[in-house]
Amino acid sequence: MTLVRNRPLHVALACGLLALGLGASTSAGAQGRDISRDVLAAGDGWAAADGGTTGGAAADDAHVFTVTTRAELARALDGGSPTPKIIKVAGTIDGNETDDGDHLSCADYATDGYDLKKYLAAYDPRTWGGAKPSGPQEDARAASAARQAERVVLPVGSNTTIVGLGSGAVLKGASLQVKNADNVIVRNLDLRDAYDCFPVWSPNTGGLGDWKTAYDTLWLNGSTHVWVDHITASDRGHLDEDEPTYFGRNYLRHDGLLDITSGSDLVTVSWSRFADHDKAMLIGNGDGVTGDRDKLRVTLHHNSFESVVQRAPRVRFGQVHVYNNRYVVPKDQADYRYSIGVSTESQIYAQNNAFTTPGYVEAADLVKSWNGTALHDEGSRFNGFPVDLLPIYNAYNSGSERDLTGDVGWTPAPELHGPISSAAQADQDVARGAGAGRIR
Ligand code: CA
Repeated sequence: MTLVRNRPLHVALACGLLALGLGASTSAGAQGRDISRDVLAAGDGWAAADGGTTGGAAADDAHVFTVTTRAELARALDGGSPTPKIIKVAGTIDGNETDDGDHLSCADYATDGYDLKKYLAAYDPRTWGGAKPSGPQEDARAASAARQAERVVLPVGSNTTIVGLGSGAVLKGASLQVKNADNVIVRNLDLRDAYDCFPVWSPNTGGLGDWKTAYDTLWLNGSTHVWVDHITASDRGHLDEDEPTYFGRNYLRHDGLLDITSGSDLVTVSWSRFADHDKAMLIGNGDGVTGDRDKLRVTLHHNSFESVVQRAPRVRFGQVHVYNNRYVVPKDQADYRYSIGVSTESQIYAQNNAFTTPGYVEAADLVKSWNGTALHDEGSRFNGFPVDLLPIYNAYNSGSERDLTGDVGWTPAPELHGPISSAAQADQDVARGAGAGRIR
């Protein structure tokens, strides 16, 4: 099937249908409005600074695509070219799919004799020890992983808008990677289950070793002016908690939902839903990545973090404005660790966020610091009551980390954000309005 391009005839037809009140199925927004040429509003977070974010709004008609398969999506993305382009995703697209539309399973990618049982036997710490895996099974794993990456990694270039059509646009099993790009918009998309068929054993991670996985559902790598709005990102399809334990560690299949790293800057993430996942959002991926200093400026507002274990977000270096977000730890979630992670040189300015948790989670658990020095927090609400997270963190800090001060060295300028409501109001608004399919 070839790409469907919006030619003037189609546009005229769509306008005619809209005039008749029949346009809902032909336009991009859940409510029938065409959102594909929307640009980020002035003042809406860091992505609005220094020239703003317009994505593919300047695309000519030849670069407006409606895609229904992985092959069409890959062709429209054009290898991450900077040509202004608008890509509308219709229905469900499977990232693990051949150009002929056949689904690819993990077994289809496996090559050179890769076999999980043999891999586990080869690198069992009790016999292999603590060295990095090497040898035939690790080589086969890497070769197999490369085959999957070739399918599921989709590069997004500068001046691109990707939007879901209506309320049912899904991209599953893929990793959208915005690398060294400027001016990108991703909206109204349900991004699911960036599943790694070939996790690698990393013996030296976290003292106990851990499984490392390759894919974030969306990764901003060295990219600027990015607006992520009304997406839903989750592990829906394959939950890590249902995966087995090998070498005493959960055999994780997913990395981040939205990771922002490697000099990325000027990003706004709004009205999105991050759910059913371990490590949701990493902003800055290394204490030694000092090139991130003065970058990683991100605004997070009106997002929902539900059934997330940690990193909502975890921040290094960046001036990150976190306001009016909703955090929900459901009663049956037993593996919650923390929400706001304060790491090296981070400058988080948190305002009016709402946290709802079961009894085993205390207010002191909401914040965790590794080598952080400061956190601004005001207006937070914990299970319906106002709470000051900073003194609570400091009072309950186990002592392995120094106390945090409230001075993060910056204050978000009024022209850098929209109206900030109470945490209670935000809690309701975000529950109703965040996520894909909910643009009004
Ligand atoms: Ca990642």
